[in-house]
Parts: sequence; C-alpha cells; structure tokens
Amino acid sequence: MNTVSQCVFCQIIEGQLDDSRVYEDDDCIAIMDIHPLGNGHVIVIPKYHHQHITAFSPKLGDHLFHTAQRILRAQRTVGWGLQGTHILLNDGPAANQTVSHCHIHIIPRQRGDALRSMGRLALHVTGLFGPKAARKKLDRQARALRGALSDLEPAEEA
Ligand code: AMP
Ligand code: ZN
Repeated sequence: MNTVSQCVFCQIIEGQLDDSRVYEDDDCIAIMDIHPLGNGHVIVIPKYHHQHITAFSPKLGDHLFHTAQRILRAQRTVGWGLQGTHILLNDGPAANQTVSHCHIHIIPRQRGDALRSMGRLALHVTGLFGPKAARKKLDRQARALRGALSDLEPAEEA
C-alpha cells in the first residue's frame, strides 16, 4: 500500500481521520461522501495513492468497478427511493478532481432532486459540493448499506 501523508483519503485509509465505512477489502474501501450530492452518496477508494485511473492494473480497475456495482445494488435495496445513479470518476483537476487520489463516486438520484435543480452542468460536475452531512446520518446510512451488501444474493454477484 503506498500512501501520502497529506492526502485526505490516505489519512482515512490509515485510520487517522473519521469516516463512515460501507465496505473494505485488501485493495479498496467504500465510505459515505461527507458532502453528498445525493442521499446516500458513496465513494470507492483504492488503497494505493495514485491520482489517475490509468495508474492501476486492469485487474484493480475491474475490482473497483465491481465494488461500485455492488454498492449500487445495496443502495437500491435500502429503501431510500433511488431512481437513478451517476457512477462518476473525475480524472484530473481540469475534470474537477479535488482530491488527487483516484476514486469512484456512486451518486443516487431522484426525480426533481437538488442536483437537478442546480442545473444541467451539475450533472457532470462534482466540484460543486453539497452541504456537509452530519456524521450520525452518514454512520446510519453506512450501517444500512453494510447490511444490504451482506444480503446480496450470490446470483447478483456473478
Ligand atoms: P472529487 O471532486 O471527484 O475529487 O471528489 C472528492 C470527494 O471527496 C468530494 O465529493 C468530497 O465531498 C469528498 N470528501 C472530501 N473529504 C472527505 C472526507 N473526509 N470524508 C468523506 N468524503 C470526503
Ligand atoms: Zn492518497
């Protein structure tokens, strides 16, 4: 695992900062986003500090995407009224990457939600942060998603 001391995601991976953990394995973690752009916004973070998705092996890329798929399945089952999703990866500052440690967003959407009312541009931009969420709420959501992940049918995992 290569980490960088001033990187917020490396600090989370090292346990130096609070997070609301949804999932963890040898290669990645999934946590609730602290500035959610949708109700239950999760980010999947590899345990290796690289800014760009191109730095990772195809195998790890597959694993990160598969993890994002599983999180999305879990989000669908917890009853938060999810009607659509953005799976988003901002690669580089010009693409509004604000944390230079590669990560995948899974952003739940509902018809008429706040992200929609911010306008079309916001559909493509996470540089526009949502308001900071309360840790208690994020912990509650992480717990619900952990339960939903453990209930996923093996057939859905294929
Ligand atoms: P990006 O703009 O694609 O680099 O996304 C970075 C994301 O990291 C944003 O959605 C932030 O809200 C999120 N973020 C930053 N710091 C934290 C933190 N301490 N815990 C959880 N999410 C964070
Ligand atoms: Zn990092």
